[in-house]
Amino acid sequence: MSLIDRNPLNARAVARTYELDRRHVFHSWSAQASLDPMVITHTEGSYVWDGNGNRLLDFSSQLVNTNIGHQHPYVVEAIAHQARTMATIAPQHANDQRSEAAHLIAERSPGDLNRVFFTNGGADANEHAVRMARLTTGRSKVLTRYRSYHGGTQTAINLTGDPRRWPNDDATSGVVHFFGPYLYRSHFNATTETEECERALAHLEQVIELEGPQTIAAVLLEAIPGTAGIMPPPRGYLAGVRELCDRYGIVLIIDEVMTGFGRAGSWFVCDDEGVVPDLLTFAKGVNSGYVPLGGVVISDRIADHFAHRPYPGGLTYSGHPLACAAAVASITVMERDGIIDNARRIGTQVMGPELMRLAEKHPSVGQVRGRGVFWAIELVTDQKTRHPVAPTGGSSPVMSEAIATAKALGLLPFTNSNRIHLVPPCTVTELEARDGLAIIDQVLARVDALI
Ligand code: PLP
Repeated sequence: MSLIDRNPLNARAVARTYELDRRHVFHSWSAQASLDPMVITHTEGSYVWDGNGNRLLDFSSQLVNTNIGHQHPYVVEAIAHQARTMATIAPQHANDQRSEAAHLIAERSPGDLNRVFFTNGGADANEHAVRMARLTTGRSKVLTRYRSYHGGTQTAINLTGDPRRWPNDDATSGVVHFFGPYLYRSHFNATTETEECERALAHLEQVIELEGPQTIAAVLLEAIPGTAGIMPPPRGYLAGVRELCDRYGIVLIIDEVMTGFGRAGSWFVCDDEGVVPDLLTFAKGVNSGYVPLGGVVISDRIADHFAHRPYPGGLTYSGHPLACAAAVASITVMERDGIIDNARRIGTQVMGPELMRLAEKHPSVGQVRGRGVFWAIELVTDQKTRHPVAPTGGSSPVMSEAIATAKALGLLPFTNSNRIHLVPPCTVTELEARDGLAIIDQVLARVDALI
């Protein structure tokens, strides 16, 4: 029996799914009237199938979360087993899957990040991390960078440094934005990574001084900005931010919601950089989103602050047993099967070199950058002026054509503004990665013809 034969929805059911969606489902981030969502009927490994039976190579990992691929049998079975044993339980009780998940996560987190507060996703993880920072310091301001994404809830969207914040920003959030390193479009007129790093740190120090260090609770940063463009920071930048936070008594929160659990070829990027934040937030790859889960890993110092005074926050589903069972299974199988090593190897041996080759070949490519299975291609109308093919936060006919071409050729891409992000599962095989890059080669040829 082929995979297509196993399509659980026939044509009538696909049509009904679409029709009921259009009639009753209210979608994220969108004007509702013109939406045309693709029906996905089933998924497996690195592939998804649409309502017409087309197989698409998933180079998006959905919203960059299916690090372990689709329908991993070990994780699916762990969820099914947990559902039969204890499908839910209130968070004040200890449950074995939450205890085990917390242990596995703390063990993989750097330094003294030893305790885990579980949430339902990444936005609420950042909300709680900020709350913890404000309560422990008694200060209210939070510094985050432009070109960042931290989630869709009220504090998290105000932490965010992209245009999605604007309609939600009533200027009362206590968040101040600064420029982070981004050499390709340097805000500091830098021409080398070293200059960019030094100048970005000097800029951040100035912002701290001018805002008043005694008013700043936290600096919150994505380890590598993800949705905003996959810009790995120059070596030494995160360590420099750590040093500034120490000097001014500011809590450092690193958001590893997208970068953690294998995406960038390691458990956590901050660990690669030798940096121990005070709080680390995670979600997505912790269990590939098979059941919603996120959380904050908390340093001993901040955990101690709440040893004898209550932490004023909680969730009905904090440490939900189905979500935690999925996390335990996912982390176990990632370790057992060398999945993080695979992501790193695919990055260094396949995606990195092949993308560099495509960058040489195609005039529409401004820059490629990334690591592991976390890569972005920045598309420009002219390599000299670096003019983007679409504005920040917007789209354009060229980007729409790039997306349509990729899908027609059998690849589901993740796109944002003028960029195509290549973010397959960490389990992607070399053959699948090469197939996907061959499609991207054709997509870029189409874009070349349009610029
Ligand atoms: N932080 C980062 C870096 C993210 O990429 C995201 C989601 O894309 C979030 C936070 C928000 O996570 P969630 O959508 O699970 O609330």
